[in-house]
Amino acid sequence: MAPAIVILGAGALATAQRLQGLYPQARIHGLAGRVDGADVAYSDFGATLRALYQSDTPIIALCAAGIVIRSLAGVLLEKGAEPPVLAVAEDASAVVPLLGGLAGVNVMARAIAEHLQVNAAITTSGELRFGTCLLNPPEGYALEDLGQGKRFVSDLLAGESVRVEGEAPWLAEARLPLDDQARLTIRVASQAHVPAADELLIYPRNVLVAVSADAEDIVATVTQALQAAGLAKPALACLLAAETQMANVALQGAAQTLGVPLRFAGGAAPRALVEQALGLEPMQVGAHCAVGVAALPIDLATVGRSRGRLAVIGLGPGAAELMVPAVKAELARADDILGYETYVRMAGPFRADQVLHCTDNREEMQRARHAFELAAQGRSVVVVSSGDPGVFAMAAAVLEALHEAGRPDWHQVDLQMLPGVSASLATAALAGAPLGHDFCVMSLSDNLKPWSIIETRLELACQADLALAFYNPISKARPLQLGKALDIVRRHRAPHTPVTLGRDVGRPGQRLSITTLGELTVDQVDSRTMVLVGSSTTCTFAKADGGQWVYTPRWYPHKPG
Ligand code: SAH
Repeated sequence: MAPAIVILGAGALATAQRLQGLYPQARIHGLAGRVDGADVAYSDFGATLRALYQSDTPIIALCAAGIVIRSLAGVLLEKGAEPPVLAVAEDASAVVPLLGGLAGVNVMARAIAEHLQVNAAITTSGELRFGTCLLNPPEGYALEDLGQGKRFVSDLLAGESVRVEGEAPWLAEARLPLDDQARLTIRVASQAHVPAADELLIYPRNVLVAVSADAEDIVATVTQALQAAGLAKPALACLLAAETQMANVALQGAAQTLGVPLRFAGGAAPRALVEQALGLEPMQVGAHCAVGVAALPIDLATVGRSRGRLAVIGLGPGAAELMVPAVKAELARADDILGYETYVRMAGPFRADQVLHCTDNREEMQRARHAFELAAQGRSVVVVSSGDPGVFAMAAAVLEALHEAGRPDWHQVDLQMLPGVSASLATAALAGAPLGHDFCVMSLSDNLKPWSIIETRLELACQADLALAFYNPISKARPLQLGKALDIVRRHRAPHTPVTLGRDVGRPGQRLSITTLGELTVDQVDSRTMVLVGSSTTCTFAKADGGQWVYTPRWYPHKPG
């Protein structure tokens, strides 16, 4: 999860932004009223820190360590989350890991210190003495029991020596007091084993189970197969299934319950899947499953591939705080990001390993097909739209591409649409509630539909006295559409009808203007403008700051007779 960078004053903003260079998805939380330019404003420092802590969010606080400790004191004894918590001096001169030793706080502290070119204040004795944290083994290894691990490390620190049984290349680099005759043993093996008092058990994740979705209870099948083979559950690296079962919901649920990734390969029978993936005979074979044990932890990248994912996301109008959290999470996991260059830039910053595919705004179908090609290879792909992807944007284009392609592999992709705040709603919110009653959303672009349809719809929407939201009102290539549309509207609506114009809403240079149908001229509008025309009941009144509120009441006057 991306860390939260929490600052108290503007003096820390520069350092906070430097840290975003290391953690591009991290958001800066700034005290409301004291910090301009933060991503999120908060009003109570202590409450904010505690809420982040309890939701297991890594915290980088740019303030005195003491303030952080006092703020979190009340929640420290609670069971549950213990995310990494670090204090960083606001002038970037010191990095102090405070909490979350088992969640990798020292690793973070070192990374931050390197980024800021200072030293990390590492105080963990085991780590200082042995150069590694035994209780936080690297990827590919799992610790059996933490409580026991802690006792084990304190025995080591008290001066005992230790021997290592099994393959653990990473331990070779640690400065451990090794002795073949030692009482204390670090045992690295995937066999199920009840640890003795003087043993530290570390499981290599070197077990792979190939399953078929035809198994009645996949979790039970896998669990029994592991038991029969004498293997411990934490040693399970992944489930492997046939590519044809990629979209199978039971398989996904089982992988989730077991807490392991799900990979896919061509081939059908579980036995063949194991042989193909590991190049060795399965250790145990049942009707719907086969178990393989590799010599070293399994590198998932070498086992089949994952199910590809394609998410069509809405960025909202532009401002980061108007982007929904699900979209942020999707951007963080993406391998590839496709879209119109302006929107792709708006979705950033990105990590160096994320691939950007920027295209022209008009190449939507081609972009949609490209996205499926990438996702069908197992990649995690994001197609970016501004506002909401379902409103005159990429969601429908992506579905159209899928519908007409006749590509079974594209249908296996995990396709998701993630909503965003559409320009009409963002503009309406700035002005008050111009769309507070029934309204009609239209694009005035006749690139993809005949102008006559637009005229008919406008005519009927006006007759129905709906408030109107116009997307794509005008452009250099289509200079006349808005004028023609307004001619129709003016035949039905009075000149005093309020009109709201929002330009670059939620972006730098945002502009809101409130005018009337009588005064509106097309030169006030461009392709980056949203036009909201009131109904017969829409009204305005003065705002304390000199502007105006616009709203359409929720009720409707009854026509006499
Ligand atoms: N999917 C987008 C709309 C794409 S159509 C959404 O849901 O918002 C493009 C049109 O949307 C533009 O011509 C403009 O009329 C409007 N628009 C998009 N973003 C805008 C913004 N930030 N401010 C004002 N209008 C915007």
